[in-house]
Amino acid sequence: MSKQAYHASILHFLDDPDKVGQCQSYEYFEDGLLVIEDGKIVTVGEASKLVTQIQPDQIFDYRGQLLLPGLIDTHTHYPQTEMIASYGEQLLTWLETYTFPTEAKFGDEDYASTIAELFLDELLKNGTTTALAFPTVHVQSVDAFFEAAERRNLRMISGKVLMDRNAPENLRDTVETAYSDSKELIERWHNHGRLQYAVTPRFAPTSSEAQLEAAGVLLKETPGIYFHTHLAENLREIAWVKDLFPNSKNYLDCYDQFGLLGKQSIFAHCIHLEDSEWARLRETGSKIAHCPTSNLFLGSGLFQINRAVSENIDIGLGTDVGAGNTFSLLKVMADAYKVQQLNQNLFSSFKALYLATLGGARCLNLDKSIGNFLPGKEADFIVIDKEPDDFLAFRMQRCGSLLEEIFTLIMLGDDRCIRATYICGEVAHLRNEHQRA
Ligand SMILES: [Zn+2]
Repeated sequence: MSKQAYHASILHFLDDPDKVGQCQSYEYFEDGLLVIEDGKIVTVGEASKLVTQIQPDQIFDYRGQLLLPGLIDTHTHYPQTEMIASYGEQLLTWLETYTFPTEAKFGDEDYASTIAELFLDELLKNGTTTALAFPTVHVQSVDAFFEAAERRNLRMISGKVLMDRNAPENLRDTVETAYSDSKELIERWHNHGRLQYAVTPRFAPTSSEAQLEAAGVLLKETPGIYFHTHLAENLREIAWVKDLFPNSKNYLDCYDQFGLLGKQSIFAHCIHLEDSEWARLRETGSKIAHCPTSNLFLGSGLFQINRAVSENIDIGLGTDVGAGNTFSLLKVMADAYKVQQLNQNLFSSFKALYLATLGGARCLNLDKSIGNFLPGKEADFIVIDKEPDDFLAFRMQRCGSLLEEIFTLIMLGDDRCIRATYICGEVAHLRNEHQRA
């Protein structure tokens, strides 16, 4: 089999900067070589040493550019692609005004396919190679998403939304159909190639206790599937949950009492948690998807990253499209920094990039397969052009260190900087030359 090598500056993370210290957390090869074979990583290191040892069949010259592992979006909604950047509501009115009318269209599989393709194009254009994505309540929306992801050989996680109350009639399922439809979809898609399934109630207010109980049964019956939902995003939402679940100790307990916590469980937002909720997330190894862009957009609040670090809870970054008004995880990293500024916390650019790569992979328990360039992992990677136009070139040339360059990239970068996106060693996106300034 032929070995391909990519000659570039190469950066990847080996561990969490908050756990091992920044210097120990990453490897950087200024003149590096990434070698792959059959879509998997063979090795990474200094080009001068590896070229003679490995003798690749083909070398791609990306010198002057930066190779990173593909970015990982731990919380997003593909059906909300068309309502991104809609004006002016907070969570509950946003759902009623924009989300529900949009999601009602996804019972039509052709429509769902069109949007799934558009969504995946945007992900690849922005350097995102894996996502944990909400579809809608419709089986067709799940099939459309997984079929589109399969055609592109993408590593994706999704699962039918469960919603049997407090939603329009045409978006409601029942306890029985939630279970039977999910069961069929799990059979069809879970561990099918690079695809995996997540049991996905929208959030506690739109599921009855009986439906959350059924979700727990689904999790028990298929070890290894994911659980994905929202938690403690907005204060009005939390007050509503207290009314709807008078017997629950707190918001998280609505899920906990039905066995929905664990290391395969990812909760989006987690902005307004009580101490006992932090403790249960920690005890159960549950994960958090932090979505700063969405949290600012909907005015939901400021997530406490430092609390998650001190509780030793894995977090990843999420765009939360369409309440997040960008597909770019670079922009989400910039917003994560700003949210921590408002919390009076330091948040380094290396921590941000860790969370968007290896940290995201750990959050999704996929770090054996993706997240960095260790041998044997799947070769999903991106080529970053740090100087896609005259102004970024001007600013980058004033950076004195790698750390400064990464911070500048995060603060000023977007899809212009994604020169190429590779999936298992195959080109999935190449930025058109004519788009360059
Ligand atoms: Zn969301």
